[in-house]
Amino acid sequence: MSRSEQFLSDAIVDTMRTPLLILDSGLRVQRANKAFYRLFQERPRTTESRLIYELGDGHWNIPELRQLLEEILPQRTEFEDYAVTQTFPSIGPRTMLLNAREVAPAGPNQMPVIVLAIEDVTERRAAEATVQRYTKELERSNQALQDFAAIASHDLQEPLRKILMFGDRLRRSVQGGLEAKAEDSLARLLYSAQRMQTLINGLLEYARVTTRARPYEPVDLSAVADAVLSDLESALDRSGGAVTRDELPTVDADALQMRQLLQNLLGNALKFRREDVTPQIHIGQRSLENGAQVELTVCDNGIGIETQHAERIFSVFTRLHGRNEFEGSGIGLAICRRIVERHGGSIHAAPDPKGGSVFTVTLPTRQNEEMVQ
Ligand code: ADP
Repeated sequence: MSRSEQFLSDAIVDTMRTPLLILDSGLRVQRANKAFYRLFQERPRTTESRLIYELGDGHWNIPELRQLLEEILPQRTEFEDYAVTQTFPSIGPRTMLLNAREVAPAGPNQMPVIVLAIEDVTERRAAEATVQRYTKELERSNQALQDFAAIASHDLQEPLRKILMFGDRLRRSVQGGLEAKAEDSLARLLYSAQRMQTLINGLLEYARVTTRARPYEPVDLSAVADAVLSDLESALDRSGGAVTRDELPTVDADALQMRQLLQNLLGNALKFRREDVTPQIHIGQRSLENGAQVELTVCDNGIGIETQHAERIFSVFTRLHGRNEFEGSGIGLAICRRIVERHGGSIHAAPDPKGGSVFTVTLPTRQNEEMVQ
């Protein structure tokens, strides 16, 4: 290698941000770069010409690593991402990933050398462990919440059924024989029990988004939308409303849940209408990320939604209107969000610029192979 070539290669090695050691065939350090000295807080005096196993307090003197390094030149091997977790004298406990390979001689009178790259992954590993811990905790608390919702709603059903049954029996046996005030109390009691039943059923349905989840399969969203619209036909006829839609794509999904999703969104678009305004609903679609995602929109010309409430309405039991205005249990959109999130998508609401509301759902077109039937 000429002097200028040597100079160039030294400059390159020094600019590398990864700590590097150049070892000769006897595994002695020919040179180390600046990043190495910075990381290990060492000096050339205590590094160059030393055997790699003697560096520091001998922290590289690991039999397995020794064997790997010794094989590189005679057997033309290399290794990647060999992890070493050690307490280093100057920098404490660290995890390093080691990569080593032969570099062919640059000239006829030169020997091949080994380049050993040392990457400090301590922080990355710690961050990964933290993310993993949080994910586990989140999964645990989700599971606990889910078990609670499923068990509570299931177990509450039975006593409630009894309240309704005996209440109804009582009403029939005293028919006409009660004072107006007592009659009113009984009617209210039965109404409240019925309402509670609706809420509990809603909770159960919410829990079932994951407990009764079915595998993904290719689902034609146009067909799903048409099926939902035919279910809503009588409500549509009564309101005189009209629904238009784009040609919708086929996506990998749980077919029943897609139906539940569109049923809730279209049902709401029809329900939250303005008095004296004929409902006009449009289901739009747009392909995103070169077809990897699809964006569906359900736009209506109803009462609209204020931006400040647009996130809140996806929580369980959140309603913006009294029951005298609009019937409902406040669970529909929470179910929608859970369905969409289970599919790896997102859902948001916003006021439509032309009045009314727009609900935007983004879904991946394809799901993980092994999960698709
Ligand atoms: P529910 O329809 O049973 O009230 P949802 O969870 O479906 O429950 O909706 C929650 C709330 O979000 C509704 O009570 C309503 O205030 C609001 N909302 C939902 N859809 C619309 C819509 N298309 N236009 C205006 N407000 C809506």
